[in-house]
Amino acid sequence: MTADPAAGATVPTYRGTVGAGVLGRTLMHEHVFVRSPELDVDYPHPEWDQVSAVETAVRGLEDLYDLGIRTVVDLTVPGLGRDVALVARVAARVRVNLVAATGWYTDDVLPPFFRTHGPGRLVGGTDPLTDFFLRDVQHGIGTSGVRAGVVKVVTDAPGMTPDVTRILTAAATVHAETGVLISTHSNPALGTGLDQARFLLDRAVRADHLIIGHSGDSTDLDQLRRLLGMGVTLGFDRFGMAHTGEDQQRVDTLLTLLGEGYAGQLVVSHDAAYFSRVTPPSWRRSHTPHWTHDHLSRRILPLLLERGARQEDLDTMMIDNPARLLAPVAR
Ligand SMILES: [Zn+2]
Repeated sequence: MTADPAAGATVPTYRGTVGAGVLGRTLMHEHVFVRSPELDVDYPHPEWDQVSAVETAVRGLEDLYDLGIRTVVDLTVPGLGRDVALVARVAARVRVNLVAATGWYTDDVLPPFFRTHGPGRLVGGTDPLTDFFLRDVQHGIGTSGVRAGVVKVVTDAPGMTPDVTRILTAAATVHAETGVLISTHSNPALGTGLDQARFLLDRAVRADHLIIGHSGDSTDLDQLRRLLGMGVTLGFDRFGMAHTGEDQQRVDTLLTLLGEGYAGQLVVSHDAAYFSRVTPPSWRRSHTPHWTHDHLSRRILPLLLERGARQEDLDTMMIDNPARLLAPVAR
């Protein structure tokens, strides 16, 4: 698998398009703010204060830049309270590149709007999911002018429900049209990453533009090797998330796969957030103190090197793979 992105390929970020080759050290699965818009209207969370949340994110991202991180992919999509206008206020004040995402976050059903809109449905028309994803990737999200650099999809315990299937189908369609990266939330304990990979590869999604996320929560090397054999990239993207796995095991599994020569198909990240209504800051401080965007830089990367990982492999995972994945498929 070659590491260099297509010559001249560009990646959309909050500050406009950037050459894929200059993205630098990249965290491929993070969040800035995870919110719940309908709750937030009438039942605001006591720990949410927009002004201080923006300040927290700016400070955190500036700190990341000083630690050598140059690009952060924000996989917050509708269903998780995506607010590109708000993140843009953060992006304007930090040196790291932020990349926005489209897609839909649900592991089961879509909102009622989608039940009545689309081919063969009550109101009819084209599938709004495809229209929305395409618009986000090609023209920009809302009125922000910020284009999405990745499509995020989810499967978890409910499996390939009709709505989840519909979302994955729309993602495959938009990938075919634009070459955009698809990045997933999977549940490796239930093997849903294999379902995702089979479904998407069957629909002509390019294996070298597909990340099966949260794979690093698994210690099932057979399952991970089976996915790698399909050519996809695995996300070891929850370092510090103590309630879904132990970092010690993630490190052991990652070192095993690096030792087997898979550096070109692995990316690392945290799935952290500067504020999340799902697990608010006070809960994180007491239960997952290391689940922060700087955990890899401060603790895990040094630990990997100490345990024998090669710097070259770390650079492949953090610089070359993100550049290849985020550069749209050359057509
Ligand atoms: Zn996430």
